[in-house]
Amino acid sequence: MHTPDVDEELVAVATEVARTRCRGDNHTMAAAARAADGRIVTGVNAYHFTGGPCAELVVVGTAAAQGAYDLRTIVAVGDRDRGVVPPCGRCRQALLDYFPALDVVVPTPAGLRAVPVADLLPHTYVWADHQPDTPS
Ligand SMILES: [Zn+2]
Repeated sequence: MHTPDVDEELVAVATEVARTRCRGDNHTMAAAARAADGRIVTGVNAYHFTGGPCAELVVVGTAAAQGAYDLRTIVAVGDRDRGVVPPCGRCRQALLDYFPALDVVVPTPAGLRAVPVADLLPHTYVWADHQPDTPS
């Protein structure tokens, strides 16, 4: 069950990448993001004990490498049919700072929902709000 605001194509693409590209312990999560121009960018995590990036962060860098700097919606899906997985705390913070208007597809008791990333971090630190003014 999904609410009507969920980008079903995006979920389907992330699910397919998770099913076909995740491998072993290094790549266990896939993510897909919809850019402002409509294209979909995908990535998988690069697990490493030193702090390898989650799939969401890989997608942010991959999108930039393709010239997509404005992401509108993102979803992450686990391998082995684990379905949509909500972003971890680090990703929530990074996604909020990169794309304050981003929607994130998350599982809820009522099914998948697309929620504003800010709703995933109530009363959060916003990096841009705490930078000293640039000297003129
Ligand atoms: Zn994460």
